[in-house]
Amino acid sequence: MARAVGISLIQEGEEVKYDYDLLVVGSANADLVIGVEQRPAAGETVLGSDLAVHPGGKGANQAVAAARLGARTALLARVGDDAHGRLLLDSQRDAGVDTAGVLVGGAPTGVALITVDPSGDNSIVVSLGANARLAPEDVRAAAGLLGASRVVSTQLEIPLESVVEVAKVVRDLPEGTTRLVLNPSPPQPLPEEVLAACDPLIVNEHEARVIAGDDLGDSPEDWARALLALGPRSVVVTLGAEGALVASAEGSVRVPAVKVEAVDTTGAGDAFTAALAWKLGQGESPADAAAYAARVGAVAVTRAGAQASFPTAEEVAAL
Ligand code: ATP
Repeated sequence: MARAVGISLIQEGEEVKYDYDLLVVGSANADLVIGVEQRPAAGETVLGSDLAVHPGGKGANQAVAAARLGARTALLARVGDDAHGRLLLDSQRDAGVDTAGVLVGGAPTGVALITVDPSGDNSIVVSLGANARLAPEDVRAAAGLLGASRVVSTQLEIPLESVVEVAKVVRDLPEGTTRLVLNPSPPQPLPEEVLAACDPLIVNEHEARVIAGDDLGDSPEDWARALLALGPRSVVVTLGAEGALVASAEGSVRVPAVKVEAVDTTGAGDAFTAALAWKLGQGESPADAAAYAARVGAVAVTRAGAQASFPTAEEVAAL
C-alpha cells in the first residue's frame, strides 16, 4: 500500500531514503540574561550587568547538540520575523542544522527573561511567542520531513496539540519508518496516543511524577515501571550525577554517569536527549545509546551555558 505522507510517497516495505538522522520538533527562544546583586521585588527597579543574549529553547538546543555531534539534523520550529529569530536561525546554521523547516512570523520569537543573582538563583519570565503558534497544521504540512527522518525528537515547549500531531504523523508512517523520542518538559499529563508512540519517553523524577502521579514508588526502577504501564515502548529516566536508567518490557538497566567536575548543568538534559535519539536511530541498543548520551551530558556539565557547552564527537571521545 502506498501512503501519501506530506510531499513524499512511502511504499509499505520500501527502503526509506532518510534525509536526516534526527528531526527536532520544538521550541526556539532567545534567553536574555542580566546578572543582578538582588532580584527585584514587586515595584522595585534594580541595576544589573550588561545584557547577554543566548540562543535557547529545548528544541533549538537539542538540534544544535545533535548537529555538533555529527548527526544530519533538521529543526521544525517557529520564530518571529525579528532579530531574535535571526539569531536563532544563525546559531542553528552555524552548528550545521538544516533550518528549511523553521517557520518565520506570526508572533515575536519566544523569549526567556532571566535575572540571576550571585548565588546563582534566578527569576525567569517566559514569553512563548512564536513557539505557541507552531500549530498542528504546521506539523501536518511537514509530514514529509518527519517521514524522511530516522528519529523525531520533541518536547512540550510547543502546543500539546502539535505534539499530538507529531505522534499521529509518526504512527501513520509504515511501521519502523521513524522513531519518536519525547522529553516531556515542562511536564503535563499526556494523552494515551502520545505516550503509546514514545520510544523512549525520557524523563527526570519531576517529569515522571507529573505524568504518572505521586505514588510512583521510591526507586527509578519503580518510576519506570509506572511509566511503562501508561504505554510507551521504552522509558529512560535521567538521574543527574547518578546517570540514567533505561527500561522496557524486557527489563531495566542502569547507566552510570561519567565522573566530572560539574560547572553548569544547564542544557545537560537536552544534550543527553539529542545524543540518545541520534544513537538509537543509528541502530545502537538503548543501553549503549544511553551510555554515549551520558558521556555527552558529562562534557556539557563541565562548561558554562547551554548550546555553548555542547561537545563535538571528538570531544566526547576525548573524555
Ligand atoms: P534538565 O535539567 O536539563 O531538564 P534532566 O534533569 O533531564 O535535564 P539531568 O539528569 O540533569 O537531565 O542530565 C542528563 C544527563 O547528563 C544525566 O543522565 C547524566 O548522564 C548527565 N549528567 C548530568 N549531570 C551530571 C553530572 N553532575 N555529572 C556527570 N554527568 C551528569
